[in-house]
Amino acid sequence: QARRTLSVQCVAAPEQVTTRVQRNKNIGKLQAGYLFPEIARRRRAHQEAKPDAKIISLGIGDTTEPIPPFIVEAMKKASEGLGTLEGYSGYGAEQGKGELREAVCKRLYEKVGRKPSEIFVSDGSKCDIGRLQLMFGADMTVALQDPAYPVYVDSSVIMGMTGGHNGTGFEGVQYMVCRPENDFFPDLSKAPRTDLIFFCSPNNPTGAAATRAQLTSLVEFARANGSIIVYDAAYALYISDDNCPKSIYEIPGAEEVAIETCSFSKYAGFTGVRLGWTVVPEQLRYADGTPLIQDFNRIMTTVFNGASIIAQAGGLACLQDEGWAQMLQLVEFYKENAAILRKTFQEMGFTVYGGENAPYVWVGFPGQKSWDVFAEILEKCDIVTTPGSGFGPGGEGFVRASAFGHRESVLEAVERFKAVYGNKQ
Ligand code: PLP
Repeated sequence: QARRTLSVQCVAAPEQVTTRVQRNKNIGKLQAGYLFPEIARRRRAHQEAKPDAKIISLGIGDTTEPIPPFIVEAMKKASEGLGTLEGYSGYGAEQGKGELREAVCKRLYEKVGRKPSEIFVSDGSKCDIGRLQLMFGADMTVALQDPAYPVYVDSSVIMGMTGGHNGTGFEGVQYMVCRPENDFFPDLSKAPRTDLIFFCSPNNPTGAAATRAQLTSLVEFARANGSIIVYDAAYALYISDDNCPKSIYEIPGAEEVAIETCSFSKYAGFTGVRLGWTVVPEQLRYADGTPLIQDFNRIMTTVFNGASIIAQAGGLACLQDEGWAQMLQLVEFYKENAAILRKTFQEMGFTVYGGENAPYVWVGFPGQKSWDVFAEILEKCDIVTTPGSGFGPGGEGFVRASAFGHRESVLEAVERFKAVYGNKQ
């Protein structure tokens, strides 16, 4: 065997250089980091300080239960197909498989007048919110519920629609406060006009589902002002109350002022699989008459390359009768968790909202700072919740408990809460 010689050359580490590229000033406006990484950081610190603690997470809102079998089988079949000549396929349509667009429409939107061609299948709602912002551009004014899912405001900031943070909120953003005092619905008679209105029902984090009358007033408000509503229906199937619409298109006239985004994440446990959709009605137009659907199609075909075909096979199974029934069972399971949490907090004497039409329970700690309550619950119960103020200034004084968890974890959390807070009354 030839002798190999190893020559080692000593090279001085290159001097650190800084590029001459200016940072996107809008990203610089964002606050301390996205809420959930901050929660994860605090959780890690707690675990390091108490290595034996068995932390229960009622925090981030990620699903925990297995995907129902009918849906898994469909995805297995699609994956195996990829390993065969006949079953292999590459890029698909950026808007999603025609069959899936039709199935989403048939199951959820046909009765409210939408068409398959208006449904854009994607890798999830969060990603779609980002792509919608890319479509809108920087020159938009924006309103949102306060508190709200943080992606609406952060993506608006990154896009350059807002000013800097003034210690409470971002300059230029209209925060529509939603608290118990106004039944978690903004006083629209006092709300100024904006181009965009982000609205989420059932709401993350408060769990409040808007009624038909409330959504009718929102649509009328948008129509009168010539605004566009971006309606997030990610939790619509959690609604039990018949008086609360499951789609904004149940409200007459919404098709001229509203986009709706939705997802399989919290329905079928697809948070990791990734599949959602956005509905852009043909009737929705910009001031110059351009249909939004034309521009959204342009965005999707430019910066998106279609959802995974395995995920799409799963999505299709979700919409078939057997998959649909299994998916609703999964939603029901999480709703039972929500009911357990809601009852526990109520029995302990807390003021509790949500948890009836949503997988989130919103617990009031009047006069206390949300992050302090979060820290106390983590310290005393080894339970991760989400501080309400992380969702906007209007969330101060609340924490959110998520119903996404194994049943035994939820029951264990209940015991720990009772042991620490049981004597509140
Ligand atoms: N919209 C709301 C209100 C959410 O709470 C979430 C996830 O927590 C999403 C959208 C994200 O959905 P997806 O997983 O489809 O990106």
